[in-house]
This record gives sequence, C-alpha cells and structure tokens, in this order.
Amino acid sequence: MEHTITTPLAGAGQAAPARAPYKPLFFAALLLLAALAGLCGWLAAERQAALARTGSLDQQSARLEARLEELEALTVRQEEALAQAEERLAQAQTELDAAQDAIALLEEYSYAAPDGTVPEYTQLYPGFYAPDWQGEAVAGGKVCCLTFDDGPSANTDRVLDILDRYGVKATFFVVGSGSVSAASQERMRKIVAAGHSIGMHSWSHDYKKIYGSVEAFLEEFNQLYQWIHEVTGVYPQVYRFPGGSINGYDRGVYQEIIAEMARRGFSYYDWNASAQDATVQPRPAGDIAADCLKGVGKDLAVVLAHDSAARGTTVDALPAVIEGYQAAGYTFSPLHPGVEQVTFGYPKPR
Ligand SMILES: [Zn+2]
Repeated sequence: MEHTITTPLAGAGQAAPARAPYKPLFFAALLLLAALAGLCGWLAAERQAALARTGSLDQQSARLEARLEELEALTVRQEEALAQAEERLAQAQTELDAAQDAIALLEEYSYAAPDGTVPEYTQLYPGFYAPDWQGEAVAGGKVCCLTFDDGPSANTDRVLDILDRYGVKATFFVVGSGSVSAASQERMRKIVAAGHSIGMHSWSHDYKKIYGSVEAFLEEFNQLYQWIHEVTGVYPQVYRFPGGSINGYDRGVYQEIIAEMARRGFSYYDWNASAQDATVQPRPAGDIAADCLKGVGKDLAVVLAHDSAARGTTVDALPAVIEGYQAAGYTFSPLHPGVEQVTFGYPKPR
C-alpha cells in the first residue's frame, strides 16, 4: 500500500518536475524552428543573391558578346585597312621603281659632262622645244602604227586616198629639202588636215651631214621643225632618225642626240616591221605586204614604209597591209608622245 500511496504522492509531488522535460523540448523545437526559419531566410537570400549574380552574369555575358562582335568588326575593318595599306605600299614601290629607273635613265643620258658643265648645244635654238602634249596614252593591245618616211612625194596623194578609204590614221616622217615645192607644201597640209601625224625626218637626209655632230643634227631638225609649222600651222612632236636611231654614221653621237632631243620633249620611233622597200629595183607589192605583216603578233607594231616617187609598189601593197592587220584584230594609231616608243636597243658594250 505504502507503495501505492507514495506512488501517487510521489507522482503528484513530481508533477511539475514531470512537465519540466517538455519545456526544453519546446524551446529546442522553437530554436529548431527559428533555425529553420533562419536557414530558409538565408537560403532565400542566397537564392536571391544567386539570381542577382546570374542576372548580372547574363548582362556581363551579353556585354562581352557585344564587345566581341565589336572587336570582330574592328578586326575585319583593320584587315581591310591593312590590305589597302599593302596595296598603297605596292603602288608606292612601283612608283619608286619607276622614279629610280627615270633617275638611272637621266644619269645614263645626262647632258652634263663629267666635270658638271652643260654642253653649249643645250643653249641653241630656244624655240626648238616640243609643245606640251595632253592627249591619251596608247598602251599597246594590238595597235598598228603605219609610218611613211621621206615624203611628201608624187605618191602621197594615193597613200592618203587609201588611208582615207579604210579610215586609218598613220604617220608621215617628212624631209625638209624635199618639201619646198608648192605641191609638197600642199601635201603636207593634206596630211595634217586628214588627221595623220606629221613627224620630222631631217632637213637634208644626208647622213654624213646630220650625224656629223649633235649641233649639226639640231640645226637640221630645228630647220624642219620651223618649216613644218610655217607650212601646216602645227609643230611636230615625233621624229625618226634617217637610217634608224643606231646606224653606221651616228655611233659616236646617238646617245647625246637622243638625250638632247628627249630634253627638248621630242619622242623618236624606230620600227619593228619593215616594208623592206628601200631597194634599187621596186619589189613586188605582195612581197612588201608580206614583210609589213610580219608585225602581226606584236602588241604594238610600228611599220616602216617609204613615201617616195619610186615606191609605187609600196602604195600598191597598202590595202593588203591594212586588211591583214585588221583581220588580225589590230586598230591603227598615228604616232604621238602617248604611244609607247619602239626603239632599237643599244648595242652591247664590247
Ligand atoms: Zn629616210
């Protein structure tokens, strides 16, 4: 009994202490809840921060992508600029090369003596300078320049008629001493009026006289230059050496003559196809035409033929020559400073 009495007593006496364990448990639960709430809050804040970070990362990434695109565009532009700069550099190099060539040519052709003095012939004939030329350049591409030396002559009118019939412009290198008659002067005017080029071929055509000295050459060509102007009203721009620029008479003076005439603005032309018509007996027209057409295949064919009374078969050959070049796709041009010079090369020094 004692046991049963005490037990409730004990139980009653221990009622408060018996509830005591619930209090810490309650607090523990409360703490746990608080901790959980804190954790949730922290997690939410973290999530928010992470989201914010992601957002800012997205923005950053977009900015980087935009920057990358800008850089790529810049690279393309820089590559283009580089290509342009390279092109300009190549162009400048070409110009430099041309300038150096010109300097080398001037040194080669220098009219100053080794001691630096200038030859006195440069002071001669102050009115003997080629007029400025402002036409267009002819840059090859199947161009044929027909040239007739030694005229005008009794054949000039026929030559002019044939050229006119084909609508072809050519060049006449006239000789002064052969052009003093009224008929010759009229032919010179016809040459110019028809749109052909009139060029100089010396006054006398006397090799020994012309090539005796630079001074003699200048005297001959100045006389003819003034004469052509007096008769036709135009000053010639081009000339041809009797016998070609390098012949058996001018070995000692041709370089100085070329330099001095170039300084005065004149262009000379040799030839790269010839009628071979300067023969004692006239050659058959067919042979002459065949020789003239040997220039077919050259980018720029300069054909030498003669306009003199004895060269009737040359005139006979002319239609076949023109038709031959036309059939090969050539156009015709008179000679003027815009046509690339066709000249004999210097002989190799021994
Ligand atoms: Zn001649």
